[in-house]
Amino acid sequence: MSDKQRIGIMGGTFDPIHIGHLVTAEAVRREYQLEKVLFIPAADPPHKQNLPVTLPMHRYIMTILATYSNIHFAVSRIELDRKGPSYTIDTITELKKQYGLQTELFFITGTDAILELATWKNVDLLLENCHFIAATRPGCGGTLDSVIEYFGEQGRGHIHLLATPELDISSTDIRERVKQGRSIKYIVPENVENYIAKEGLYRT
Ligand code: ATP
Ligand code: MG
Repeated sequence: MSDKQRIGIMGGTFDPIHIGHLVTAEAVRREYQLEKVLFIPAADPPHKQNLPVTLPMHRYIMTILATYSNIHFAVSRIELDRKGPSYTIDTITELKKQYGLQTELFFITGTDAILELATWKNVDLLLENCHFIAATRPGCGGTLDSVIEYFGEQGRGHIHLLATPELDISSTDIRERVKQGRSIKYIVPENVENYIAKEGLYRT
């Protein structure tokens, strides 16, 4: 393994952040010996343009609450402070400037995101500038090989699959649970659970 600085990036809507995100980020950090993982809440997720998304401020605070106890985790406002749709290519370009071209960036996603990678803005440039680590997510394992092949050499060199504990947890399910008055205990960190209750998020 090279001695270049290695930084992980966990991008997401985090509406809300849950233990699936945290377990995945920690597994990738250890496996790829990353110095740290930056959690980057999207201000305006391009793939959720027609869906209602909770105020960025709430999503940002919950991301801080969830990650604070891990010394290797940090939260970046990079997408929150940028206007317009939150394209990953813009974020990666900015981070490369910030950390230097030598730094290797590892973008951490679930397999579901990789299946849609071809639709991401400037995906070829993106693959040139970072690695994608796809954590297995229940129900979306199998067809990843064809995505990797689709991108040819860049795909084979820059998209990697990592078997992680498959947690069948999604923010969509958590929002639904809160709306129905069901428990989200242990699916999100306790401080996030308390924040959701205190702010009355996801009730309607
Ligand atoms: P939603 O249901 O609102 O889409 P989500 O749970 O998919 O929420 P996102 O914020 O959309 O969460 O996801 C951010 C990133 O985390 C994506 O790359 C997604 O694939 C990954 N991810 C989310 N949940 C899991 C999980 N349980 N296991 C592995 N990866 C996950
Ligand atoms: Mg999602």
